[in-house]
Amino acid sequence: MSSKKQVQPHAFNLPLVGVETHAHLDFPEFAEDLDQVLRRAAQTGIAWIGNIFLSPDAYQTHAPLLSQKTGLFFTLGVHPHEAVTVNEDVLADMEQLFREDDNLRAVGEIGLDFYRHRSPPDVQIKAFQNQLALTRDLELPVVIHSREAEEETLRILQDMGFKGRQLLWHCFGGSPDLAAKILAQGWHVSIPGTVTFPNNTNLREAVTKIPLSRMVLETDCPFLTPHPFRGKRNEPARMAYTAAEIAKLKGEGLEKIWTECAATAEKFFSLPA
Ligand SMILES: [Zn+2]
Repeated sequence: MSSKKQVQPHAFNLPLVGVETHAHLDFPEFAEDLDQVLRRAAQTGIAWIGNIFLSPDAYQTHAPLLSQKTGLFFTLGVHPHEAVTVNEDVLADMEQLFREDDNLRAVGEIGLDFYRHRSPPDVQIKAFQNQLALTRDLELPVVIHSREAEEETLRILQDMGFKGRQLLWHCFGGSPDLAAKILAQGWHVSIPGTVTFPNNTNLREAVTKIPLSRMVLETDCPFLTPHPFRGKRNEPARMAYTAAEIAKLKGEGLEKIWTECAATAEKFFSLPA
């Protein structure tokens, strides 16, 4: 495909029901053209976008503007990279924000990242456990970030009694084996644009085995841009390419993937129909 002839996402002609479960629209990458980004998302059939705030500060700075836009819902959690910042004050701030804003639908992304190690492992584990305890108190769903730390993440979640709770494993990039372990706990899996990379054989095989009743779609934008836009800024509209690839891998229609993953996400985040 020549770069001039790339299909525009809205050319997929998808119904306006899609749910993009993981975006970082408060990042500086979107400061210039947020309204155009949201327009392209709607033109592509995205009815809801979940914006993931990575700290109470990020929420307080950016939620006032984002709350004015239609079709956005929020989650809030301190990312494992910033685990050193989690203390009693931050946890109390989070709890208050969750009690004040109904549009905050889940705690997260929280978890462990032993790939970049920006916070020491023991600090990450403590911050993760404390935010999981808050999640339980608030009786909210949770969005998990886990990189190079799958076994430790699973162990902590099991120890803290999360089996059968509303849990979404964000940016799933693992094997069919890991998917099976997550599904066996009653949890959900979120598939990013990396599924479009031909050499991502583990993930591509896993996707064929995850039922749509447990699968949602995400971009993690501005990161993880799907083929054929790799290297460019990612944005919610590009999620159509991820859905198209999943349709191909599963041997299903694109519209079916789009609507059923949306229904799963709507239920998970209790979005208004
Ligand atoms: Zn993220």
